[in-house]
Amino acid sequence: MTTTAESAQAKRERLRGLLEATRPATSTRHPFDEFVNPGVGTMLRGLSIDVEFVSGSGTSLFDAQGRRYLDFAGAYGALPFGHNPGQIWEAISSVQRAGEPSLVQPSLLGAGGDLGRCLVDISPAGIERAWLCNSGAEAVEAAIKLVRAHHPTRSLIVAADNGFHGKTLGALSLTGRGRYQEPFGAPVAGFVHVPFGDLEAMRALFAQRGSDIAAVMVEPIQGEGGVVPAPAGYLTGLRELCDHDDALLVLDEVQTGLGRTGAMFAAEHEGVRADVITVAKALGGGIVPIGAVLFTRQVQSEAFDQRHTSTFGANALCARVGIASIDLLVRDDFALLAHVRQRGEQLAEGLGDLVRRHDRVCEDARGRGLLWGLELTDRADRFPNQGLLRSLADAEALAGIACGYLLAEHGVRVAPTFFSGRVLRIEPPLTVTESQVDQVLDALDDTLGLMSQGRSGSLVRHLVPAAGSPGATAGASVGHTRGPDTTCAGPALPQEVRWAFLAHPTDLASYASFDPSLGMAGEDVRVLFDRLNMCRNAESPAGMLMGSCRVHVEGGDSTFGEVFALAHDAAQLMDMPQERAVSLVRQAALEAVDRGAQVVGLGAYTSIVTANGDLLGDVGALVTTGNAFTVSSAVDALTRLGATRCDVGRTGCAVVGAAGNIGRATSLLLAEQAGSLVLVGNPAHPARTHTRLENLALDVVVHLRARGTSPEAGDLARAVIEVNAGWSDRRVLEELRQRELIVLETDLRASMARSPLVVVATSSPGLAVTPDLPIRGAVVCDVSQPPNVGPNVAEQRPDVTVVAGGLVRLPGHADLGVDFGLPPGVTYACTAETLVAAARLHDPVLSRGDRLDLDAVRLVGRQAREMGFALHLEHQAVDR
Ligand code: PLP
Repeated sequence: MTTTAESAQAKRERLRGLLEATRPATSTRHPFDEFVNPGVGTMLRGLSIDVEFVSGSGTSLFDAQGRRYLDFAGAYGALPFGHNPGQIWEAISSVQRAGEPSLVQPSLLGAGGDLGRCLVDISPAGIERAWLCNSGAEAVEAAIKLVRAHHPTRSLIVAADNGFHGKTLGALSLTGRGRYQEPFGAPVAGFVHVPFGDLEAMRALFAQRGSDIAAVMVEPIQGEGGVVPAPAGYLTGLRELCDHDDALLVLDEVQTGLGRTGAMFAAEHEGVRADVITVAKALGGGIVPIGAVLFTRQVQSEAFDQRHTSTFGANALCARVGIASIDLLVRDDFALLAHVRQRGEQLAEGLGDLVRRHDRVCEDARGRGLLWGLELTDRADRFPNQGLLRSLADAEALAGIACGYLLAEHGVRVAPTFFSGRVLRIEPPLTVTESQVDQVLDALDDTLGLMSQGRSGSLVRHLVPAAGSPGATAGASVGHTRGPDTTCAGPALPQEVRWAFLAHPTDLASYASFDPSLGMAGEDVRVLFDRLNMCRNAESPAGMLMGSCRVHVEGGDSTFGEVFALAHDAAQLMDMPQERAVSLVRQAALEAVDRGAQVVGLGAYTSIVTANGDLLGDVGALVTTGNAFTVSSAVDALTRLGATRCDVGRTGCAVVGAAGNIGRATSLLLAEQAGSLVLVGNPAHPARTHTRLENLALDVVVHLRARGTSPEAGDLARAVIEVNAGWSDRRVLEELRQRELIVLETDLRASMARSPLVVVATSSPGLAVTPDLPIRGAVVCDVSQPPNVGPNVAEQRPDVTVVAGGLVRLPGHADLGVDFGLPPGVTYACTAETLVAAARLHDPVLSRGDRLDLDAVRLVGRQAREMGFALHLEHQAVDR
């Protein structure tokens, strides 16, 4: 007794605990997001469509604040009579009133039998059986088993590419999208796919394997594949092929069936007779889950009848709802279907008009009755300037942004189709009114208008609430204003070598310059990027297309390339686990190669997180970090600007970040010309830094001794040659350090105080060279990305020359079409190295790995000069 009482008490406590946990007050996340589906929850939050609807009536939904929304997503077709239709609730109540038992398997089920008869009544001639289940996928599974049981010796079921049939393993095997099958061991054996609508492909398959084909299973209109109606004659052609080889024709009408297209079944429009039809969605009247598979007497088999069951199938509650749904569809001489046809014509006309008027962003409107897809463009060149809309178009992801805007600004709910992020699904309840359709067409008109005008800021303002406040954009750097980007030069020519460059936002200014039409400060754009990252799914590309460009180098052929941005900044890439960062960069590289790139350049931190490309593995193309040309340009810039102010050979040069890959090569090259050298390392790890600097200093000695005398040698190189030839390298280094010709430092202030010429080459986003640090008249060349020398140094120290190091001008007035915050026609040397490598694909200079080869540095510099790349020294008067 006691034990039972105690355990009941304990159980109550546990349940109370569980209930507590689901209360919003104890959690910042919605319980659906936290406990049911975090993936969907995150995506909804990302697009700011994470609304909880607390009530619904007809086509309208309401949130907790009482805001009204028009539901044109329509539960993917499962909302035939809108939300909470009275007649369906009445059917549910009638079960309760009558005390009808809902679950009494096995017995003669009254409601199930009545629904079976209703379904057969409304089905095309020849259909005589209806098996009842609980969902679309279950109906599809049943259809697969029916077919296999009917043709036990035939091994194949043929389906269409891009078709969607549900997510259970059999249904998923029919579904024609590899990406959704792979992780789940689908397709299981026995399924083949051919292109949808291609009767010739089907004919060829039948010619080869007709006697082994048990059935062909397709949708009359591919719903989730992007609302793609079968071409006229296709279904008839399939029927003939099936008849010829005695295969079954199965039509999946889970989405299109029961009135959605203005006929009871979509295949009726073409007068095609199927052996098996699956239905679900609308049969539940918008309230309960239910599905059915309808079939001819010939398909029936003992195996199926006796061995396929479902506990909940044909339960009285759902069956009564099914009967009520059919009643609503057929009453008044099928008046609702006539209404669907009328509203369908209204939509066809309205959407057709929108496609014509917004042809810059709309490709097509397809559908029938009240199942429509509005296809948005995937052409980046429809958006003349770098920016969000161009990237989203290229990623086939414009529909998501449109959905978010429509919900936030117009209270209109539409959704992308499952397989196509560029198709807006328009699928309202069959009971939708004329004025509701007009309202949604107006909302779409506004949305498409903003898209056509490239007004990305208006389309995403709701995602970044702070950006709407007055002055939010004040102080935002929006980079250099460019004219229309004419360099988005369309597809590559067949003979052109293709390259790609991977970049990412490095700092707030580069966020802001990503899309000046957003009109947002860098901080707000970062919030926007974070939101976009939340919406990523299996189909999302890792790299967003920013620009494309054709470059004609002097004495060579043109090359064509594309620039992609990862949606993560330097700090985010460094903070995430390295495998994740590497896998993002690798995915972006593979995508670029997939589009044709033969050389891939790793910009900024894409190079750092992959250990200068070493961790990237084979991506099927040449890979370069751009480090060689960066070093070459930095040394060139510093010594040339230095020469306008001092005798470089007698002057002290500091290399900040000397122990890094770029810093090391820069130090070795500068050592050839400098008066003296200060090697500056990271103070955070003094012991390790000291060892690395000492090793580097020794390398400097070895390098200078090996080089011997040279005409440009400065004091340091001369001293190395002049010391006793019998001394060891270490002894020479000691001597040089004593004479302060080589100094090792971890103190930035001290090192800059003794050096008129400074190169900053660190990978520390946080390091800042402040205006008080450079000595009078210093030249400071910053090749770090993000920069370590802020704009305030040049502003507050007119005596100091600050060079954004490694900037080069492209040959032949080319422009990457990408605003890195640089003047038109100018880019980073690391980017330019990719272009140089592409122009010499037969013997490219590539810098990959952690030791830059000095000969490669010199060679790429020479090659680039010959091709017409020129150092960009902004306003500095230096001859080339
Ligand atoms: N078949 C088609 C044509 C569908 O559109 C769907 C769902 O969208 C299904 C099958 C799967 O239905 P359910 O989601 O009820 O399993």
